[in-house]
Amino acid sequence: MMKKILMISTGGTIASEPGPDGLVPKVDGAAMVRMIPRLHGLCDITCKEILSLDSSNIQPHHWSVMADAIGADYADYDGFVVTHGTDTMAYTAAALSWMLKNLGKPVVVTGAQLPIEHPETDGKRNIYSAFHVACSGRPGVYLAFGDKVVGGKFAKKMHTSEFNAFYSVNAPYAAITASDGIEWQTPEPPMPADKFEVLSNVDERVMLIKLIPGTTPDILDYAVSQKYRAVVIEGFGAGGVPNDENNFLPAVERALRAGMIAVCASQCMYDGVNLSEYPIGVLAARLGVLSAEKMTIEAVCTKLMWALGNSNTAEEAKALFLS
Ligand code: ASP
Repeated sequence: MMKKILMISTGGTIASEPGPDGLVPKVDGAAMVRMIPRLHGLCDITCKEILSLDSSNIQPHHWSVMADAIGADYADYDGFVVTHGTDTMAYTAAALSWMLKNLGKPVVVTGAQLPIEHPETDGKRNIYSAFHVACSGRPGVYLAFGDKVVGGKFAKKMHTSEFNAFYSVNAPYAAITASDGIEWQTPEPPMPADKFEVLSNVDERVMLIKLIPGTTPDILDYAVSQKYRAVVIEGFGAGGVPNDENNFLPAVERALRAGMIAVCASQCMYDGVNLSEYPIGVLAARLGVLSAEKMTIEAVCTKLMWALGNSNTAEEAKALFLS
């Protein structure tokens, strides 16, 4: 029996054609599939167009639309391919990883650096790889791009134009794509014991503050005044906040007292946050600031939005974020 795969398209360069102001999504999913003859015979494909956006225009509520679309057709397909722009693809892959709880099937996000109608497009190859992963039966959200398959929570766009644009950060690549299929690099995850459910609510009131030497702490008071519910402080090195000149600690304390969740992340890509090494981290952690540990900014911010959206109190959101 051929596997049944649903391809959901959302726009991006892969589906784009030149317009008067640059590339705009125009090509629908069925047309993209028709351009890849070797897909025929691999599986039984159904296409659904749910969005047609440059992914820089994707908003958090669009992740909910994608998760709900997968949820609505979950029982009828063996796997799902989501075509998407590359700019925010890592955010979407992470968001879907949180929203699709107890996922027992593959969901594979992919796109391209060059439109599918371009003679040198990487889109056909990427879609083909994505379908291979979607047919594999491996549960989980993945991002297939270039010759790599990345776990949805670990992906980061590292190149604006190179074909191998996405890296797996602080985790091994899930797979490498070879001409004849997929070479898995990680053991097959177990099937979830609990029932699949979609937790697709999001609360966008999450602010990311990237520190530079000289940043003043009043930005945190601004976040409180604007009713943000969580703040990610992307600090230096192993993470933490300045505690000398431009001391952030009093403003952090005010934010926490106002009910905000505060998370320290790092501007370094690899190895993660350690809040127990220096006073900049120790003092922040003592106040109640959480650590992003080894998560990417994409994973931390989407997880906070998801946790806030699917809980009733800040305490519940904090527990969901830490789960
Ligand atoms: N701006 C495009 C997008 O993210 C870039 C791409 O798809 O490669 O939709």
